Amino acid sequence: MRQTTIAKAVELIGIGLHKGNPVQLRLEPLEANSGIVFYRKDVSVSIPLKPENVVDTKMATVIGREGYFISTIEHLLSAIYAYGIDNLRVVVDADEIPVMDGSSASFCMLIDEAGTIEQSAPKRIMRIKKEVEVKEGDKYVKLSPSNDLSYDFTIKFKHPVIDQQSYSFHFSKEKYKKEIARARTFGFLHEVQYLRSKGLALGGSLENAVVLDDKKVLNSEGLRYSDEFVRHKILDAIGDMSLIGINFIGNYEAFAGSHDLNHKLTLALLKDPLNYEIVELSKAESKEMARAYA
Ligand SMILES: [Zn+2]
Repeated sequence: MRQTTIAKAVELIGIGLHKGNPVQLRLEPLEANSGIVFYRKDVSVSIPLKPENVVDTKMATVIGREGYFISTIEHLLSAIYAYGIDNLRVVVDADEIPVMDGSSASFCMLIDEAGTIEQSAPKRIMRIKKEVEVKEGDKYVKLSPSNDLSYDFTIKFKHPVIDQQSYSFHFSKEKYKKEIARARTFGFLHEVQYLRSKGLALGGSLENAVVLDDKKVLNSEGLRYSDEFVRHKILDAIGDMSLIGINFIGNYEAFAGSHDLNHKLTLALLKDPLNYEIVELSKAESKEMARAYA
């Protein structure tokens, strides 16, 4: 199995969540061993994807360099990672990725439109060798060794529509598109009102998030899945794990995980080289691992 990039450049225009302005997003192929590199066209700054370049994780995952940043990268990254793309340039003309419908479905369609091609260099993946866990109170995120790739997520909210939800996702690209990609981000009305009062989330609407009041979902179309909330948390986790820089094989497990805990998990993982090994997927014995990203 070899490294992958997209077959041709593609672009779309959407609204940025925070400022509410139109943002142009363009994906371009990159040569082998380049990784995922963000580029702010408006200020000519490149920001390679790595955990050290994460500058904020409160509301979304934000990457930055030299004082310039790009916000809300996790849904796009989730799609890029799920498609097993190793090398890609992500060009935007503003400081955020368009929010689209609050899921990664539009980004999957964009990558499908571009198509993917294999490059000459062999694909490398990270195999988790030791359990790595980050805890905060009763919340935790954890990576454990496994011969395939799976995500297990549980959330618990004191809310009649959400309550406790768990989802186990045994990863494949096709299952990602069916079970995960369409799950939208969600928020509570009081939070939205607070953010608006601070001049944030100006582009946020019922078009790009599931919004709940104290009792119910406010979107007239309802939910896309009864457990859309926990599925979206898996979508986020897949995007945040892409900070590792290459695809991994192992089990990800979380209770009430967040962008912040996910970021800390990638830092904890990379801190100790005994936690993982890098495997080339050209070898016959790695066939089983290659299946996840086929
Ligand atoms: Zn999200």
